Amino acid sequence: MATFGNAGTAGTSNQRTTVAAIKARPRAQVLIIGGGINGVGTFRDLALQGVDVVLVERGDYCQGASGASSHMIHGGIRYLENGEFRLVRESVMERNSLLRIAPHYVKPLKTTIPIFSTFSGVLAAPMRFLTHKQQGKPKERGAFLIKLGLSLYDSFSRDGGNVPRHQFAGRAKALSQLPELNQGIKYAATYFDASVHNPERLTLDVLQDGERAGGDKARASNYLAVTRVSDDGVELVDQLTGETFSFSADVVVNTTGAWVDMTNQAMGTPSSFMGGTKGSHIVLDHPQLLAACAGREIFFEHTDGRIVLIYPMGDRVLVGTTDIDADMKKDAVCTDEEIDYFFDLIGHVFPSIPVSRDSIVYSFAGVRPLPRHDETAPGFVSRDYRIERREQIIGSRSTPVLSLVGGKWTTFRALSEHLSNDVLAELSIPRKVSTAGMSIGGGVDYPATAEGVEEWIRANVSQTLTAERVATLLTRYGTRAKNVIRYLDQEADSPVNSTSELSARELAYMVEHEQIGHLIDVLIRRTSLAFRGLVSRELLEETAQLLGGRLGWDSERRAQEIDHASDVLERFHGVQIDATAATRR
Ligand SMILES: Cc1cc2nc3c(=O)[nH]c(=O)nc-3n(C[C@H](O)[C@H](O)[C@H](O)COP(=O)(O)OP(=O)(O)OC[C@H]3O[C@@H](n4cnc5c(N)ncnc54)[C@H](O)[C@@H]3O)c2cc1C
Repeated sequence: MATFGNAGTAGTSNQRTTVAAIKARPRAQVLIIGGGINGVGTFRDLALQGVDVVLVERGDYCQGASGASSHMIHGGIRYLENGEFRLVRESVMERNSLLRIAPHYVKPLKTTIPIFSTFSGVLAAPMRFLTHKQQGKPKERGAFLIKLGLSLYDSFSRDGGNVPRHQFAGRAKALSQLPELNQGIKYAATYFDASVHNPERLTLDVLQDGERAGGDKARASNYLAVTRVSDDGVELVDQLTGETFSFSADVVVNTTGAWVDMTNQAMGTPSSFMGGTKGSHIVLDHPQLLAACAGREIFFEHTDGRIVLIYPMGDRVLVGTTDIDADMKKDAVCTDEEIDYFFDLIGHVFPSIPVSRDSIVYSFAGVRPLPRHDETAPGFVSRDYRIERREQIIGSRSTPVLSLVGGKWTTFRALSEHLSNDVLAELSIPRKVSTAGMSIGGGVDYPATAEGVEEWIRANVSQTLTAERVATLLTRYGTRAKNVIRYLDQEADSPVNSTSELSARELAYMVEHEQIGHLIDVLIRRTSLAFRGLVSRELLEETAQLLGGRLGWDSERRAQEIDHASDVLERFHGVQIDATAATRR
């Protein structure tokens, strides 16, 4: 196994501190394996109940499917076609709730479905109510069925939902609102869902809420992998040093997403619950396409029946996604063929807008943790979740292992409560508190209006922090930016030359409070610099230097980190770093 030498001075890095805390007391009531949103959500829920819980993630938090989603917090209108009414209802309720409890990252998303002639063969409605299996060429659905579906969707919002109801527009009105749309449009249906702008940071917020709630009884670490069972429990391998140690728990929760079966196999009890599908996305720096979307998500069925989307994420445009049976032995990456597919679909919706590979600043792919689905086509596999319970001999003790099969981003809070209830039942511990309606991290006291945001920024501007910098911090941390600002003010700070969005002190804050294990964590998951195509060679070198000063990285380790970050960006995200700027494949 490749390890990174000189992993840092013990105690100076939060990441090292958390590993040390787990190693020092290698036992808990519950061990959660997997730090995607569902594992982390369950960690928070159990910590709030006072349970002694440990979570381990083999890479960085949110590096699996949770970091590869389409960024939609949605009712899943298209799941109506699979007859998954329970899931849609729960998803709509959770969407409405997340808009309230995580307003710093989850924002309303105006969504338009362009509707064309049933005979055009170009675009159709995203609904196929009747079957779970794909039979022959997908049938197109027209305005009537879309109307029906959206009315049903609206009806699920009647819990005091805070998004407006759907509207239908005829061709002339639709084209006046979205003039670059394919002129063959007949109608446009517009409704609201939500998008999560910073899933990686929301995951971290949920984790930190759990750590705060549980204190010494809620420990979590990234870069700790479960590789096998040992005589005393499961074996944990520190991915930064190669050290191993045993850990035991009364209950084990396997939330390793698409890797659930592999994790069970590693623990000595093979399962075949999973049948993940790969989905990819590209991110474009394309002002014309951005303007054409007019702030909306354009959501539609492509000619092959796949539901695809084009939508603005800040100053970039996100285009996705595919749905292909995944081979877990291969890395999930966005292929050239998928990029061609995305260009094809953009051409259908916005035929007058030219796109080329030069506009792609980033790409990403992930594997949905779907249940094994045999002959059912990927797009029709249930998106609902279930929990599989088994007794396994771990460290000579029979231990309940709860494996999570499925689970969308949107429903993570409700799912976590459900999974946590099962764990509490195993331990015969009553629930103390529900997470329903409980604000998350920097969503606490987040200003509800644009004026409130301006006011918050004005109130936190200081001699050392400009309004622009405070705005960046508020976007990045929500109202937890106050803690960051306090930290920045404690000592003299210096800017990072290669970006206006970071400073030396802020990197130090991340090291001390956000479990940085590798340089790439900062670029992809603590900031959105990689997502927006803003990583340059200079940025890599500066951040490696600054992080290294805090983490005790010597020059050899800094060079390793730069190589590792460049390699991840190139192999998994199609970004090549040259001497001065990021370039694309
Ligand atoms: C292309 C795509 C688009 C999607 N779009 C949406 C969307 O728009 N909206 C929505 O609601 N949902 C969406 N989803 C679904 C959603 O992202 C996932 O279902 C959800 O994030 C799964 O979270 P998880 O925590 O269960 O799994 P993951 O996020 O995959 O986490 C599992 C973790 O387990 C870790 N792990 C694996 N093995 C081990 C081990 N041995 N030891 C320790 N750790 C281990 C992995 O490193 C990983 O971080 C999408 C998914 C994909 C792939």
